[in-house]
Amino acid sequence: MEGCIFCRIINKDIAARIVYENDEILAFEDINPKAPVHILIIPKEHIASLEDLPKNRESLLGRILGKARVIAAERGIAKSGYRIVLNTGPDSGQDVSHIHFHLLGGRGMVWPPG
Ligand code: AMP
Ligand code: ZN
Repeated sequence: MEGCIFCRIINKDIAARIVYENDEILAFEDINPKAPVHILIIPKEHIASLEDLPKNRESLLGRILGKARVIAAERGIAKSGYRIVLNTGPDSGQDVSHIHFHLLGGRGMVWPPG
């Protein structure tokens, strides 16, 4: 989708530190990391948010979570723990309108989130 920063990363119009890529999923380092491990995992298909996900595409999220788990293991945080965040809509603080999971880890985290 034109103008979408994450679609531009998918199309390699903007550089990113890519962690994993296949036909439907891209994972890359967050440009402004909030934890020692902060990776964004996105579908290559432009879907603005969870609220815009077609019902018949829900299984895509399961595959993204499966990949998050693999990346967490690769980064050595599977045992220490990690947080996966899916901001959705204005109150959540979602800035980029292309659905993305944050994989955060490598430090202790507080609950509840801000
Ligand atoms: P959210 O607030 O959930 O929409 O998160 C958007 C995330 O995208 C933030 O953590 C940003 O630091 C990150 N971000 C924005 N632009 C880029 C970029 N060009 N490369 C990597 N991460 C980015
Ligand atoms: Zn997009």
